[in-house]
Amino acid sequence: MGKSVAVIGAGPAGLYLAEVLAKKLAGVQVDIIERLPTPFGLVRGGVAPDHQGTKNIVRQFERTLQRDNVRFHGNVEVGRDVSYLELKQAYDAVVFATGALRDRRLGIPGETLPGVYGSGAFVGWYNGLPDFRDLAPELPGSAVAIIGNGNVALDLVRILAKSEAELASSDLCAHARAVLFSARLTDIYLIGRRGPLEATFTPESLAELGALGRAVPLVDSARIPAAAAGPDPKEQKIKEQNLELLRGFAANRPEAKPLRIHLLFQAAPVSVLGTERVEGLRLEHTRLEGGRGEPTGETFELPVSTVITAIGYRSTAIPGLPFDERQGRVVSTGGRVEPGVYATGWCRRGPQGVIPANRADALGVAERVLEDLDGQPAGDRPGRQALERLLAERGVEPVSFADWQTISAAESGRAEPGRPREKYTRVEEMLALLGRERTSARAG
Ligand code: NAP
Repeated sequence: MGKSVAVIGAGPAGLYLAEVLAKKLAGVQVDIIERLPTPFGLVRGGVAPDHQGTKNIVRQFERTLQRDNVRFHGNVEVGRDVSYLELKQAYDAVVFATGALRDRRLGIPGETLPGVYGSGAFVGWYNGLPDFRDLAPELPGSAVAIIGNGNVALDLVRILAKSEAELASSDLCAHARAVLFSARLTDIYLIGRRGPLEATFTPESLAELGALGRAVPLVDSARIPAAAAGPDPKEQKIKEQNLELLRGFAANRPEAKPLRIHLLFQAAPVSVLGTERVEGLRLEHTRLEGGRGEPTGETFELPVSTVITAIGYRSTAIPGLPFDERQGRVVSTGGRVEPGVYATGWCRRGPQGVIPANRADALGVAERVLEDLDGQPAGDRPGRQALERLLAERGVEPVSFADWQTISAAESGRAEPGRPREKYTRVEEMLALLGRERTSARAG
């Protein structure tokens, strides 16, 4: 009998790893267990709906999922439908690639007021992730603050700033279009607690702010350093490109377009203001010392009625799986968690890096799995047979890859002309399409 491997999570890291093992390990059976009925992880639920080019990678992932030695088991949740221990006992190797879905907290007063949203929730909401379908974010006023200076913050700014016409070929969900297109925004504040050199924007994403139809990016030229210096030439080039873009933004006129995007650097959030809901945001100017943003004691307030934090994510703990609560990620040494158990991607490294970085991570961990399995005798673990038995006993009917193709075709079929798809955003809707009801099972 060949080896059996379970990969938990059908996002980029899990699917890249599955592809390597399926190609390199003779006789292996790879089972991909995914909590949602839909595959592709953050490519579907995280990548911006107007970045369709980034989503082309799913063609490669589809080929992996259709291999004879790979099977997709969607709508199966580890910890609910099958336990960590059961998987460990059933498979020669279990690899966690569960990503990082939960928002980090700012830890400031007022953070829990209605009108404050984490980027994971907000992006998940407009991208149709069932977890956040009912977020119902409010954009009641004319000003929004987005906290964070990474690419996620830029995605948020762009999606809030683009016009209906600019998003006509995106797969922004209908429920989100209804809310976003009825907002009457005039000012978006993009807030970094440090300076432009410390921002993790990529120039391609920053440049997009300069090409928006109805919005103009603005920045105080006094906050832009004259040059970027550093030991890494590649990094330095990226920073120089960002500085050049910011210099261009500094020359913009606020009255040029109806919506202004204010890039505020060296401004650390102090508290969210309001009693019943968000009424403003208090910030403190910082002074840069050795790359750190030190407090100056000088505060100011912004009259915003919505605050979105884009300050990073945490992974979700799975009962039994070693987890670092403080860092919010799975504990591993180079991807090895305990004998026969591995982790890869954002649940291992934290939420850093674009999709190719997760590919590199997955390839490295796949090599470790191969190395460890190499020395072991032919597998006698039941693998898929045990998984299918446990799920059947619990009345769980997994969503297969063919089922996903049915859902996907229905999404494409009901999309407005010009849009790639109109996503189904509730698990119940997807299962109903397949002629099923939602099962509620419990792991033993
Ligand atoms: P990120 O690049 O790590 O940025 C997080 C930002 O949050 C940083 O600017 C950080 O500032 C700030 N922050 C953290 N704690 C804060 C606090 N308490 N107060 C104020 N600011 C705080 O993370 P991300 O934007 O979530 O992106 C995650 C990964 O996905 C990145 O690798 C990104 O490149 C990638 N991504 C790529 C694309 C794309 O290619 N188009 C799109 C989206 C995401 P400090 O530096 O001061 O800590």
